[in-house]
Amino acid sequence: MRPGTLRKVECDSCGVVANASHFSEQEVLTLYGDEYALNTSGAEEHLFFTKDGPIARSEVFCQWIAPHFFSGPQRALEIGSGQGNLLARLSETLPQAKFSGIEGSHRAAELARSRGLDVRQGLVTGNTELPAAETIFSVNVLEHIEDIDGFLATIRRSLAASDAEPSAQRLVLCLPIQNYYGYDLFFLEHVWHFTVDHVQQLLGRRGFKVLHCEHQHPINHGIGLFVCQPLDDSVDNGASVDGDYPWIRNNRDRWHRVFAEVNTWLETQPADAKIAVFGGGEVFALFRAFTRLGERRVVACIDEDPAKVDQTIESDGHNIIVGNIEWLRKNPVDALLLTLNPKYHGMVKDKLASVVDRVFSWSPYDPK
Ligand SMILES: [Zn+2]
Repeated sequence: MRPGTLRKVECDSCGVVANASHFSEQEVLTLYGDEYALNTSGAEEHLFFTKDGPIARSEVFCQWIAPHFFSGPQRALEIGSGQGNLLARLSETLPQAKFSGIEGSHRAAELARSRGLDVRQGLVTGNTELPAAETIFSVNVLEHIEDIDGFLATIRRSLAASDAEPSAQRLVLCLPIQNYYGYDLFFLEHVWHFTVDHVQQLLGRRGFKVLHCEHQHPINHGIGLFVCQPLDDSVDNGASVDGDYPWIRNNRDRWHRVFAEVNTWLETQPADAKIAVFGGGEVFALFRAFTRLGERRVVACIDEDPAKVDQTIESDGHNIIVGNIEWLRKNPVDALLLTLNPKYHGMVKDKLASVVDRVFSWSPYDPK
């Protein structure tokens, strides 16, 4: 990944936000072919921690999207299938469907094939020849695609080649939406930032009728699900988005307030304070990049995911130990900063109450 300044621009007519600069073709090939680490490394997949215990990311998505697939035989193609976690689960859930995938990462595509899944390596552009399919689905990919028009046109060609009636064709998309308290605005590899209305308009204008839209999943917070069928090319089904769309700016401002709050707290901690963090995922990476946490020595990262415990996280040339709450009991620290989604703060604070005196939980600022 190229280091650099994060710059996003906002359309002053519709409020959509996009990266200010483009990735070159070579950068895209390297990023998704070789570097991208999410669901491509063969590692245990991301777990969501719920009141009922941990649940794997692919299980959450499988339960969410499977009801929107046809129940009978169909060719179902996943774009961006990673190492095949979701493909494998859906194949079990919908045994009559014939699943296949296309995945940018060489390593992930190979891993998926080694699990017996039909996955080929490649990125989907306007020129890609996809196999014919009645159902195409893609989870958290669209926001990475600079040429969305080409991407959607290629999907339409693949659906049309299935020779099924348009009413028997489906495109199922999941992607981050900005109507909620998301932080993907700070990700360089997320090219686009949409609200639900923006996605509805985009799909309508690119020849898809949105049959069903959901964006209040209790676990998949901040992700929208869009179930569509293709329409005739000439149909403009997208209600136009104009006027003031402040959510994306509000999201940016909320996180800037969080970063400022974290910096203020860090200033109150002595330079030699032993600081630990709770949560070794995206929020930790976000704070290391956008707050002064990156300048502090973090003695440990506490995480509940058993797959991460006893591993280390590399940060600016030194390794941070990952431990569980038991580790923390045996290795007291001076203060602990929560570096996980605010929806977990209450739960985690309860667990830490008897272990660490100073736990800093920043304000969620109106999470909806
Ligand atoms: Zn616009």
